[in-house]
Amino acid sequence: MNAAQRIAYVTLFPELFQGFVEASLVGQAARSGLISFDFESPRAHGLGRHRSVDDTPYGGGSGMVLRVDVMLATLEALEARMGARPRRILLTPAGVPFHQATARRLAAEPALTFVCGRYEGFDARLEAHVDEELSLGDFVLCGGEIAAMAITEAVVRLRPGVLGNAHSVVEESHGSALLEYPHFTRPASFRGLGVPEVLLGGDHRAIAAWRTGEAEARTQARRPDLFVPYAEAKAAEEARVAAERVERRKRRGRKPPAEGES
Ligand code: SAM
Repeated sequence: MNAAQRIAYVTLFPELFQGFVEASLVGQAARSGLISFDFESPRAHGLGRHRSVDDTPYGGGSGMVLRVDVMLATLEALEARMGARPRRILLTPAGVPFHQATARRLAAEPALTFVCGRYEGFDARLEAHVDEELSLGDFVLCGGEIAAMAITEAVVRLRPGVLGNAHSVVEESHGSALLEYPHFTRPASFRGLGVPEVLLGGDHRAIAAWRTGEAEARTQARRPDLFVPYAEAKAAEEARVAAERVERRKRRGRKPPAEGES
């Protein structure tokens, strides 16, 4: 069996994670020993009587900034307790956008630490002490916790043994270059809307062709940024296959096929 993936969080609000680590697929993976969780609060490493974790920004401006000394002390205490040095991931809207490819890469790591910000964010010198900075998307949350949970869920479901059906992570949206095709289940008719006839027929080749067509049409309509490179790669592959066919015919001393002939 694979070793459990260790996932840790540096957060001022560990209580936000309570339901997340106990319920549903993530909770089940933890109970099965496929993942384990650790938490460390910067408050425990805060300064003075009030255990301060933040201070006003140099140069002025609104809001409070998380101190680099406190954040690093928190990370180092967590790692000493874990006896490990997980990949350190800083959550920030200024980070590299998180994608399914990032999830696949992180799923291969033995251990991850998500560093969750609050207030105006971190003293920029913390960046020198982390391995990467990730953003959940082009919007601003109040803290890094929701981003950390979203990324954790995307990563954990890719770990071996977590999902019952490993095939589903291959076929789904962002598993390939296309968004996933639409799904239907009973009832066959609902408030005037039916189910595509082809799905009821049991012809698996026809179903596969329909699904590819739907995935392409959806991607083209909703995500042209994904569709254009997909269509270019598909056209290049078709041209390569056609050129190979012509070469084979030439080698056999036959005429190349006419336009449209295969
Ligand atoms: N002043 C920061 C800026 O404009 O970049 C935003 C700070 S935000 C209010 C507080 C914390 O929430 C951040 O330090 C970060 O940890 C987290 N956060 C907010 N939006 C995020 C996003 N899109 N992705 C990842 N983390 C985010």
